[in-house]
This record gives sequence, C-alpha cells and structure tokens, in this order.
Amino acid sequence: MNDLNELYQQLIIDHSRSPRNFGELSGANRIHEGYNPVCGDRLTLYIRMTGDVVEQVRFQGGGCAISMASASLMTEMLLGKRRGELKALFSEFQQLVTGKIDSSKRLGKLMVLGGVADYPARVKCATLCWHTMIAAMKDHSDDLPVSTE
Ligand code: ZN
Repeated sequence: MNDLNELYQQLIIDHSRSPRNFGELSGANRIHEGYNPVCGDRLTLYIRMTGDVVEQVRFQGGGCAISMASASLMTEMLLGKRRGELKALFSEFQQLVTGKIDSSKRLGKLMVLGGVADYPARVKCATLCWHTMIAAMKDHSDDLPVSTE
C-alpha cells in the first residue's frame, strides 16, 4: 500500500468515525430515507434548499465505514451547489466508484472513495447517500419548508 492510499484510508476512517453534518436538520425541505439491503446501511438525508441552491445538508443513520464516510463527504460537497449540478456530480461519482474514471477535478476530496472500484460489492455502500439525495430532490416539486418535528 502506498502513502496516498494510506492517506485516503485515514480520511475515510476519520469521516466514518466523526461524520460531518450528522444529525437532524430543522427547516429541511427535502427529506428522504435510503437503505442498502446488501450491507444493511441506512440513512436519512435532510436538505434545505433556498431557491435553487443547497443551503444546508445533514444526515442521520448507521452503516459500514464506506457508507458513513461517503455520506459525510457528500454533505460537505453539496453545500452551496445548484440543483442543476447535482445529477452531473452524482454521475461523475458513480463513474469514479465503478472505475470508469480515475481522476476528476470536480469531485475534489471525494476522490478518496475511488478505491471502492476495486470492491464491486461496496459500490452500493458508497452510492447509497447519492441515490438518496437524488430521490430527495424528486420528492418535492416546490420549495415550501416542511417541519421535521
Ligand atoms: Zn455498507
């Protein structure tokens, strides 16, 4: 294992142990639950959109290190993104974890999950949060805030 791989692994372990943006988000206007039966990963994603822009993202749930780290890294990446960018980001991430691309400027820190491409069974763990995010964006066609209580 080379140094870069080690660095990547440390980042994944760090994010899975101390996930960023973890917890419920009051004032979320997109909420969706995702479940990966293959591994047992579960998460609920909360998004607050202001107009076309992702203003806040948080998640709750539990699962393997890959699923937690991926969700944590995704929430950081989505902040400030426009709705129109989300699908393109997801498709680029999907290409990364399935080994179709091995570099991407746009994905930044998410590149640490590129190693998942060597473990096809874990691809669903890495993409669960993204599928959940895309589903959450489809749930509501308006931007009216809904209470999380
Ligand atoms: Zn998993």
